[in-house]
Amino acid sequence: MDEVRKVARAYYNGAAGTEKNLAQKFFRSLDTNDDGKICQREYMMNSSSFTDNDFFEELDANCSATLDFDEVLALYYMEKVSVPRCRACKSLLLDSYFSCLQCQANVSYYLCCDCYGRGSFKHRHPSNKFVDRGPCLSCSIKS
Ligand SMILES: [Zn+2]
Ligand SMILES: [Zn+2]
Repeated sequence: MDEVRKVARAYYNGAAGTEKNLAQKFFRSLDTNDDGKICQREYMMNSSSFTDNDFFEELDANCSATLDFDEVLALYYMEKVSVPRCRACKSLLLDSYFSCLQCQANVSYYLCCDCYGRGSFKHRHPSNKFVDRGPCLSCSIKS
């Protein structure tokens, strides 16, 4: 998650004015009482994706029980680039992961290292058709 935060910050700093406005607007859309921080309740009520407690805690880097702008930036960035999820356990694939080569042509099929290693998935292609892929968040930005 530290890695995502770093990339998100860099992305924001390099973004054009309109993109920065969008990120600020996103923050304000979560901050319903306008106090400059997002508490867990606001987050649960207003976030459209990644709405689980664990994820809120992951975003909350300094364990303040609220999210400041920098912490929300990581969330904004992940929504923007649509970080892939493991098909078996649904966790976000922020580190290396496995990808089915036979599926890649049409729709991608990704697995986290744990699920792949344990073989805890059902897929029509055999596991020797998978390749591991490193995270490359920066080249997956949708323009
Ligand atoms: Zn998994
Ligand atoms: Zn496949």
